[in-house]
Amino acid sequence: MSLTHAFAGSLFVVAAPSGAGKSTLVNALLAQEPAIKLSISTTTRQPRPGETHGEQYYFTTAEDFVARAEAGEFLEWAEVHGNYYGTSRIMVEQEMKKGTDILLEIDWQGARQVRKQFPQATGIFILPPSIAALEDRLKKRATDEPHVITRRLLAAGGEIAHAPEFEYAIINEEFAIALSELTAIVRAARCRFAQQAARNASLFAQLGIHAE
Ligand code: GDP
Ligand code: ADP
Ligand code: 5GP
Repeated sequence: MSLTHAFAGSLFVVAAPSGAGKSTLVNALLAQEPAIKLSISTTTRQPRPGETHGEQYYFTTAEDFVARAEAGEFLEWAEVHGNYYGTSRIMVEQEMKKGTDILLEIDWQGARQVRKQFPQATGIFILPPSIAALEDRLKKRATDEPHVITRRLLAAGGEIAHAPEFEYAIINEEFAIALSELTAIVRAARCRFAQQAARNASLFAQLGIHAE
């Protein structure tokens, strides 16, 4: 039996090439599903205008990041587009024990590490409708320097090549459709038998349902 069977909460892992609309979709999902907790990663990337320490990320130096990685503080970590990114192990483990649904917005390398530790995690890959749309969105978002945008576009093909490792794929063309698909995946995962049984233990006992 895998670890997540013991928990009432679901673990969601969302990945995408930069500019596919991952953060916009996740923020819209969280606005309508406030019970899901977003894991705030630690990164060595410089904050973008409008980003606040503790909101989008915990920003830190490479020295501090490496020391914490060596101390085992990250459930997973990876180098993405020349910066380090990592997920707090303690936050995920504490919230999973409480039965909270957790969502990780991480890259495919991190998703692989999480999948090994939590095979029941639900993996969702967000695809752009085209590479041209990706470029257009990154330019219109206007949060990154032109050389950073170029680097991210060059990396997109390599990241998309890992999409088949995920359970679900969402094509973010029409935003409202993509959001409804993401919502449907989250709601279906919550209805998995193991999750329902863990969340409703006394009802299941009253109904005479016993775990196999
Ligand atoms: P975005 O592409 O606009 O979302 O740009 P970000 O700078 O926010 O993220 C850069 C990359 O790092 C993306 O592929 C993220 O999914 C990935 N990332 C963010 N946080 C984490 C994390 O905690 N762990 C891992 N492994 N990847 C992360
Ligand atoms: P990511 O987190 O994947 O890098 P963002 O969520 O920042 O991507 O989205 C990139 C840009 O594309 C943002 O400016 C966002 O408003 C825009 N965007 C997101 N989804 C769509 C969509 N379906 N159609 C057009 N633009 C979109
Ligand atoms: P951005 O710099 O645009 O915020 O993020 C770039 C990429 O890093 C995105 O694909 C994002 O998902 C990924 N990323 C953000 N946080 C983490 C993390 O904690 N772990 C991993 N592996 N990737 C992350």
